[in-house]
Amino acid sequence: MDKPFRKTGEQAISESPLHPRRQSRRIMVGPVPVGGGAPISVQSMTNTKTADVGATLQQIAELTAAGCDIVRVAVPTQEDADALPKIVAKSPIPVIADIHFQSNYVFEAIDAGCAAVRVNPGNIRKFDEVGPAICKAATDAGISLRIGVNAGSLDKTLYERYGGPTPEALVASALKEARMFEDVGFHDFKISVKHHDPVTMVETYRLLAQQGDWPLHLGVTEAGPAWQGTIKSCIAFGALLAEGIGDTIRVSLSAPPVEEVKVGCKILEYLGLRARKFDIISCPSCGRAQVDVIQLANAVTEGLKDITAPIRVAVMGCIVNGPGEAREADLGVASGNGKGQIFIKGKVIETVPEDRIVETLLKHANAIAEQMQADGVDTTAGTGPVVIPVVHEGHGESQNENHA
Ligand code: SF4
Repeated sequence: MDKPFRKTGEQAISESPLHPRRQSRRIMVGPVPVGGGAPISVQSMTNTKTADVGATLQQIAELTAAGCDIVRVAVPTQEDADALPKIVAKSPIPVIADIHFQSNYVFEAIDAGCAAVRVNPGNIRKFDEVGPAICKAATDAGISLRIGVNAGSLDKTLYERYGGPTPEALVASALKEARMFEDVGFHDFKISVKHHDPVTMVETYRLLAQQGDWPLHLGVTEAGPAWQGTIKSCIAFGALLAEGIGDTIRVSLSAPPVEEVKVGCKILEYLGLRARKFDIISCPSCGRAQVDVIQLANAVTEGLKDITAPIRVAVMGCIVNGPGEAREADLGVASGNGKGQIFIKGKVIETVPEDRIVETLLKHANAIAEQMQADGVDTTAGTGPVVIPVVHEGHGESQNENHA
């Protein structure tokens, strides 16, 4: 690494504590640039039957509303391949066809106007015979490809040589496949080397990042249910993105795909790699709390779930520390004695009974959103609220003791 990380207590050595982005070459996925310093895009994959055009388009619309930049659809059957032209024609975001075994579907996806195709060369029968033709068709259509290496489908020879899906084995597989494309003069592809274990995944991408300038698609494969998969993705993506590695991300969750997009967008927002959207800051509560903070935070989150403007709303459990602690919030509430002090930018503006807190916050949030809109701030297409603990000081105890 060229530049050390900023250390606690030292003066910042750059505007961002993150390592500068790795230099990668740029490819296009339809109108969305990937790599070469382009904003990091968020991807997801539909879980409808692709052949069910209506259901697939409905899900794509939901993903787009949540902030998804690129969507992938599985193409395991001829019916799915046949549905691609209609899906591509109506999708508001670029569509990638995900093809594992039948190379003829790759050509059909290209003809259908897909923005890119994800191929697993190891899985496509007779790839040596069809690879050059795929590259030519992609070049003629001006589309890109993704080489997707997965721990679960690692080539048997490499598996045996390295004793399993180790980082070295996955990178060897990716390099072998990348060379197959490059040997026929095709360079418009990105690479993913996914593993279910976040630490192995980080190690694998680090190794691969040193071998060339391909744009990298980050993913922890089979990450698990929402709670577990979110943690794994935050660990892995956080580590890599902080090092500047990664050009596009897909969070994989055993949950509705829209949840993947929310998590992906929030990871980028909290890393400062995407503009912040609506956010709730809530205290964890402590012995000073005079209200059930968890219940209140949930009620406020639910009440404000349709707000998309980039507003920070603080939910604090006591009126002694609440407003001061949430000074950076646009709007907030500090509760006590059956009342809620409503504050804007840390200043108390009114006090309302506890049962009117949510409606009062909603009224002010809408007014702030309207003002933001009038000021030219983008108040559309937010990601859903995520509750994060507040980081604050000044209770006389350590933060960890007070807000574990
Ligand atoms: S002191 Fe802090 S953590 Fe405790 S209730 Fe008040 S705002 Fe919440």
